[in-house]
Amino acid sequence: MKTTYALFDAFVSAPTLLLRGCAVTGHPVTDAAMGRLSGSAEMERLLDQPGPVTLETVVSADWSVSLAGMVNLKRPAAIAAGLQDREEPIQVYVHVLKHPKYGNFLVDTGISRKLVDDPTGSGVGWLVRAVMHTNKLRIRKSTVEILQELNGPLAGVFFTHLHLDHIAGTPDVPAGTPLYISWPEATAERSFKYIFTRRSTNNLLAGKPLREWRFRPDPQGKFDGVLDVFGDGSVFAISVPGHTPGSVAYAVRTPHGPVLLSGDTSHTRWGWEHGVEPGTYTDDNDRNLENLQRLKALADRHPNMAVRLGHQP
Ligand SMILES: [Zn+2]
Repeated sequence: MKTTYALFDAFVSAPTLLLRGCAVTGHPVTDAAMGRLSGSAEMERLLDQPGPVTLETVVSADWSVSLAGMVNLKRPAAIAAGLQDREEPIQVYVHVLKHPKYGNFLVDTGISRKLVDDPTGSGVGWLVRAVMHTNKLRIRKSTVEILQELNGPLAGVFFTHLHLDHIAGTPDVPAGTPLYISWPEATAERSFKYIFTRRSTNNLLAGKPLREWRFRPDPQGKFDGVLDVFGDGSVFAISVPGHTPGSVAYAVRTPHGPVLLSGDTSHTRWGWEHGVEPGTYTDDNDRNLENLQRLKALADRHPNMAVRLGHQP
């Protein structure tokens, strides 16, 4: 099983390199037109007021992976609970975000059925098989089916980060749709080990312009940065590096109250409830833990806020 996890680790971060490859081949990353500089004080002043955005979380696939990847089993709380590595059932989500003025967006992309069903045609099927062990992957609703249910076009995709299980629906996203990432996500990974997957992962995001979130330090110091995505206080992007160098969480104001999308800053429900960050799937455990604690503190200050985790309900 060790090899399996190592494979996952090696491949799962590959898309970061792809972005640099894109830049070289004329697929530039440009500053996002959206994303006004904000801060935690402004965000938290607005957060508990009902907002205009609807948010539906769709299960794109059921899956299972190593618990040691998703929970740091070396932390005292995990040892005290007697957690051992095992196969852990998880889900792959797509969040469908509808803004009354700015249109339809996805947060992360789920899984495209064609990556699983047509490995040769997609050009990345081998990568999906190697990383995602397609025999353990049960697609419930592929990305194209989710898009077909939208009323109107897709205006963009907001990524929490670029791990394969978050971008594997991108081939179903119409060409020309802007993809929003944070700049460190595109530039930080420089390890030679990812070079072998660059060309294949390049296919996943091909044909769609990349837009960068440019965070600046939160004036109140509670986060590395906070952006007001649409400039109207309805959706905030929060910089939470650690799981990956450019991980982003999103806080969304809906008519029924705020929703926090943690991304993989916490994959699991146990990890969230016990304040233990992901394990071997995370780039920087201490930084991930610090930002998990910051998100938990935010949720504690806003008890009405629903929290939707990276891979478990
Ligand atoms: Zn991840």
